[in-house]
Amino acid sequence: MTGNSKLKLKRGHLFLRPSVIAGSIALAVTVATGVFAEYQNRIVHHQKTHAKVSEQLGLVRAKLEGNITSNIQLVRGLVSVIATQPDIDQARFASIAGGLIGQHSQLRNIAGAPGLVISLMYPMEGNEQAIGLDYRKNDIQREPAMRAVRSEQMVLAGPVNLLQGGKGFIGRFPVFTENDSGTRTLWGLVSAVVDVDRLFAESGLRSDDLPIKIAIRGQNATGAKGGVFFGDAGIFNDDPVTSQVSLPSGSWQIAAIPAAGWSSTPENAWQIRFLILLAGLLVILPISIVGYLNDLRHAHMQELDRRRLQLQRLSRRHQLALDTSRIGVWELNLDTLEVTWDRRMGELYGISDDVKQVTMDTWLTAVHPDDRVQANKDFQQAVRESRTYTSNFRVTTSEGATRWVRSIGAVHEELGGQRYIVGVNWDVSADVELNARLLAAKQSAEQRNSELEEARAQMEHNSLHDSLTGLPNRRFLDNKLAGGQAGDTVTALLHIDLDRFKQINDTLGHAAGDAMLSHAASVLSASVRAGDFVARIGGDEFIIATTSETNEDELAALANRIIMKMREPVPYEGHECRFGVSIGIAMGDPDKTNYGERLLIDADIALYRAKSNGRNRYEFFNASLKAEIIRNKRIADDILNGLDRNEFIPYFQLQFDAKTLDIVGVEALARWIHPSEGVLAPDAFLKTAGELNVVPLVDRAILEQTLWQSTRWKAAGLSIPKMSVNVSAGRLYDDDLIESLNGLAFDRGTLSFELLESIFLDDKNETIVANIAHLKALGIDIEIDDFGTGFASIVSLVQVKPARLKIDRQLISPLLRSDSQRNLVASIIDIGQSLGIKVVAEGVETMEHAAILRDIGCDTLQGYALARPMPSDELMAFIREESWRQVA
Ligand code: C2E
Ligand code: CA
Ligand code: CA
Repeated sequence: MTGNSKLKLKRGHLFLRPSVIAGSIALAVTVATGVFAEYQNRIVHHQKTHAKVSEQLGLVRAKLEGNITSNIQLVRGLVSVIATQPDIDQARFASIAGGLIGQHSQLRNIAGAPGLVISLMYPMEGNEQAIGLDYRKNDIQREPAMRAVRSEQMVLAGPVNLLQGGKGFIGRFPVFTENDSGTRTLWGLVSAVVDVDRLFAESGLRSDDLPIKIAIRGQNATGAKGGVFFGDAGIFNDDPVTSQVSLPSGSWQIAAIPAAGWSSTPENAWQIRFLILLAGLLVILPISIVGYLNDLRHAHMQELDRRRLQLQRLSRRHQLALDTSRIGVWELNLDTLEVTWDRRMGELYGISDDVKQVTMDTWLTAVHPDDRVQANKDFQQAVRESRTYTSNFRVTTSEGATRWVRSIGAVHEELGGQRYIVGVNWDVSADVELNARLLAAKQSAEQRNSELEEARAQMEHNSLHDSLTGLPNRRFLDNKLAGGQAGDTVTALLHIDLDRFKQINDTLGHAAGDAMLSHAASVLSASVRAGDFVARIGGDEFIIATTSETNEDELAALANRIIMKMREPVPYEGHECRFGVSIGIAMGDPDKTNYGERLLIDADIALYRAKSNGRNRYEFFNASLKAEIIRNKRIADDILNGLDRNEFIPYFQLQFDAKTLDIVGVEALARWIHPSEGVLAPDAFLKTAGELNVVPLVDRAILEQTLWQSTRWKAAGLSIPKMSVNVSAGRLYDDDLIESLNGLAFDRGTLSFELLESIFLDDKNETIVANIAHLKALGIDIEIDDFGTGFASIVSLVQVKPARLKIDRQLISPLLRSDSQRNLVASIIDIGQSLGIKVVAEGVETMEHAAILRDIGCDTLQGYALARPMPSDELMAFIREESWRQVA
């Protein structure tokens, strides 16, 4: 039945199926038969009813006719009596009539009208008013009376409304008498009234159990033409059964229909219908069932056809697949051990001739001896456990070739209980070979990968380390610091800069420099704790990053250790190399953003401070350091702007001859006319300007303005024989110094450059020597400033041959108090004089100083005692007043 359930009778063609057509015809025939039977039943029913009505009607009619006839016969009897006794009187009339009417007639009264005037009456009671009625004179009665007379027949009229009440038929009888000779003469009229109600009642017309409805027409016995006087006039239009009621004169028509009407349902109608339905079912049901079964069978057959086709297609495809795939199919009956191979199996094993007689042994023998045990094991296991069988083995063909075969199979049990194992074999030699090759390729790729990985690691190491010292480099440090953003790795940074490294490099060569760097690296590495690390971040710059918790004391101790170690001389190829270190230290606040970056900047700031405070020391970064840096930065910006806006101008301080106090010269001193802070002296800006390397610009500006002012003085007729300007070491180092002086207008011997004593310490610099020579050649005097504070050797004095020395004011101010100081100054003056160098004393604050200096042979005096530095205009006024002479 499962097969049936899969069958589907297609809905789309429902009405075209033969079973449905047959069923439909059967249904149509059944319905037509039913309708016809129903119709016939109705006709029969109608006919029956008709007959019954006729029968009933006949009975009624007969009674009615009988009653009327008998009434008339009674009256006729009276008429015959009167015809024989024309002189009948009332008493006689009443007695005869009374006898006639009796109990069993419907006659109400009888009247006699001899000579057409009513004089006789029975019963008299209740009918008295009719006595004396003359037919000839009565308008209503005349006509029917005359008709009876004329026709000599009884004439029946009515029903009419009676004077006495009720309704009645009136029969008028003409009465003729015949004399003996046979001559007929009219006697008069006898009229009898038949009571309508009684007549109808006694004729059965009003009976309650009458199964028919009756109507009668024919007023005054006029037959079918007369008016209806009984029953419903509509009955005549309802296809009634009709009949004639024959009267002595004329007739009535009587009609009847069934009491329930014609259209009543036959009693057996439902019986008949049920029977028809039953019969119909008996016909249709078997036809339908047979039709359905037929359809089912048809569908089955179609399904079978379809499956057969499918099977054909499928096996064609299988065949094609097997043909093209070179897969061999085998089968082993596990009960009979019968082996079946197809042609391709034979080809695979190289025994194509004899495939019909293969056995399990044929197979096992063909399997490569090395694989035989395993192949057999695989097979037996699959059979034992009835599971899918997969095995790979080598096969040696009869031609001696070896190939790899893959065998797959599965155990089946057929309906009969026979067990088979069916499977396929195919050549996988190419796959096996390919796999081996892929494996080899994969291994070699892995090998190469690991080599590459090693190389990459090496390169990465190189990119993060310094090749000379092997220390981590700047990138490494940056990575570390960026990684330490979270705050737990780097706790403090020491920025270490080697002092005097450049000199060693310059004098002893790069190899020596490299040796010093390696030495420094090893000193640093040896000084730090495990977990800290040392990086080389520039030529002679190193960073130590501590990674464990630390404090200022520990860091200071570390810095001290390093400074001590680094001071120890390092032997290099017979030389004793010495260098020192400056260290800037910054401690971390890991909560801040850009933590690593800040730490580096802070350490750098601290290093800068350490260097500027003198070398071989360390400094911690702190907030005021930072504030200073910021202030300096602002000053630097202001200086650059001030230079642009010519805010640097010279003040002039006069110099006097010690003996005569005549003006011998003037020193130009730089002042910054600061837009917001007023006039600033050099100590407020020179240091910063020096760091910015803009002092030469200041010098240049002062020189130009001094020259320009000197032209004013000259024009004003003031005589100032010499103008001195201060020249920074930087300017003197400048190769382009001389060139920059071209185009400046001055007279030879009127311009003097004051150079700091310290400049002459380094006598090696060729540019300085050349520049000094050039200056002299240009007619510019050289003056040594601040003499006595530095270490200028007498040798350098001799070499440079300056025009003048200026004894530093630090040596001048104690002159009054100290004899030894006076001797020192005196001996300087002596040296100068012995070398032909004029001596200037600066910082002469009192006239006592001036006197002493004059006495010990000083040539020139400069100082507040005589004149303060002042702007050019003031200076001109000052000179004119000559007030310094009054002071003296
Ligand atoms: P300096 O060359 O030794 O200049 C003399 C300084 O001594 C001046 O200070 C001057 O005002 C001050 N002075 C003069 N008489 C007395 C005195 O009786 N008692 C005391 N206590 N001081 C006196 P100033 O103008 O502040 O200049 C300071 C230094 O700035 C100068 O020292 C000089 O080295 C440098 N300087 C000034 N102008 C320039 C310039 O244009 N270029 C360069 N490179 N340096 C300049
Ligand atoms: Ca000076
Ligand atoms: Ca000086």
